[in-house]
Amino acid sequence: GHSGAGARLLLLYGLVFDAGSSHTSLFVYEWDSDKENDTAVVSQTLSCDVQGQGISSYANNPPEAGNSLRECLHKALMAVPAEKQRDVPAYLGATAGMRLLSAADPQVLAEVAKTMQEYPVAFKGAQILSGEEEGAYGWITINYLLDSFTKVGQGWNGEWRAANIFGALDLGGASTQITFVPKGSVMSQNKSPELTLYGYSYNIYTHSYLCYGQNEMLKRLAKELIVESFPSTRVQHPCYPKGYNETVSVSSFRASPCTDGSDPRLPRGDINVTLEGSGNASGCRAAIRKLFNFSACGQSQECTFDGVYQPPLRGQFIAFSAFYYNFKFLNLTEGQPLAVVRQAIEELCTRSWEDLSSSYPKENPKRLPKYCANTNYILILLLHAYKFNETSWNNIIFQMKVGSADAGWTLGYMLNLTNMIPAEAPASLKGHMP
Ligand code: AMP
Repeated sequence: GHSGAGARLLLLYGLVFDAGSSHTSLFVYEWDSDKENDTAVVSQTLSCDVQGQGISSYANNPPEAGNSLRECLHKALMAVPAEKQRDVPAYLGATAGMRLLSAADPQVLAEVAKTMQEYPVAFKGAQILSGEEEGAYGWITINYLLDSFTKVGQGWNGEWRAANIFGALDLGGASTQITFVPKGSVMSQNKSPELTLYGYSYNIYTHSYLCYGQNEMLKRLAKELIVESFPSTRVQHPCYPKGYNETVSVSSFRASPCTDGSDPRLPRGDINVTLEGSGNASGCRAAIRKLFNFSACGQSQECTFDGVYQPPLRGQFIAFSAFYYNFKFLNLTEGQPLAVVRQAIEELCTRSWEDLSSSYPKENPKRLPKYCANTNYILILLLHAYKFNETSWNNIIFQMKVGSADAGWTLGYMLNLTNMIPAEAPASLKGHMP
C-alpha cells in the first residue's frame, strides 16, 4: 500500500478497454511517475467486465455499444483520484469481432468513442487492432511483466542474448494469436515487426488466425456437421455430451463471415437443426481436424495450415485467455504432461450431460457442454498446427495473470501508445548493454 499523500502524488494511471468479440473488459493500470521507463513497474488496479455481448453485436444499434461501457467507466473514475482523472490516457482497442464486421461499419467505433469522451479522462482513441498488433502487444505485455526485456545480457560464449523471452499464445472468441522470437531471422515474406525495446532489437514472428477463435471454431464445426448430414435436421455432434441438445438456425451461419454465407452447400431458407450430443472423443477430434486445411502445407515443416508460414518453435510460452480458461476447468494448469492432459480430455468427452451438470452445478450451463470441443480444439491447434510435441509441450505455461495483471494485449498497447517503452536502454541499465 501507499502511505501518505506524498507517495500518492507520484502515481499515474491509464485506462484501456479490451473490446473482444464476445465481451468487453476495462483495465485500469497505475505506476509511479519516476519509474516510467523501468520494466514491470505498471500494475493493474482494476478490471471491470462490461455487461452484455461484445461491441460488434451492437451493429444494429450503435449507441447502445457506447452505453454498455458506462458502468465500467464509472468504476474506473472511482479508482482514480479526482484531480488526476483529466490526465488519464484512455483507449479502446477492438479485436477480431470488429475485424469481422469490416470497415463497412464505422458507426460502432464512433459511438464508443463518443461515450468515452463524455467522461473526464484524456481520451486517446478507439481503434481496431490488426491481428499482428494483437499478437505483438500480448507478447510485450507478458515479457514486460516478467521483466524479460531488461534481463538481456552476455551469454557464456560472449554473444549478446535475450535471456528467457517468452512466447505468447492467445485464444480469443474469434481469433487466435501465436507470437515468439524464432531462431535466426524471420522469413522476409512475413510482415512481422522488428521491435526495439530497452536498447535491444527483437525480430518477432507473430500470426493471427481470424475465424480460429473458439466461438467461431464452434460455429464452423456445427456448420460442417450440419452440411455433411443435410437434409437431416437432427445431427449428431460428437463433441457435445450425450443427452445435451442444441437447436441452431441455418440462417445464423449465413450472417457470419467465418461460416461463409456464400457456401453453396448451406441449405436455403431458415431451417432449424437440432445438434444432438454423442460424446465421442475420437469423432470429435476427427471433426475438428477437418476445420484446418493441413494439406495446404504439403510436406513443409515450416507451415501450420492453410499454407501459413511459421518458423520452428522456440523457448517457453505463456498460454492465456481461453487457453487458460479451458485448461483451468480441467485442473490442467499445473504443468501436467501431455499424456495426463489427453486422458483428462478423453474422460471429459465421455461424460453425459446429466453427469456433467450435476457434477458442476456452479459452472455456466452455456459453457459446460463446450469444454470437450474446446479442449480438443486446443490440442489440435497446439500439436498439429503449431507443432508442439510431447517434449516441447512442457514449455507451455497455462496462466491467466502475470503478477498483478491479466495477460493480454491491453497493457502492451498502453505502454506503447504512451511511449513508456523506450527504444534506448534506460540509463540505469546502460552499464551492461552492448
Ligand atoms: P474474448 O477474449 O472475449 O475474445 O473471449 C475469449 C474466449 O474465452 C471466448 O470464447 C469466451 O467465450 C471464452 N471465455 C471467457 N471467459 C471465460 C471463462 N471464465 N470460462 C471459460 N471460457 C471463457
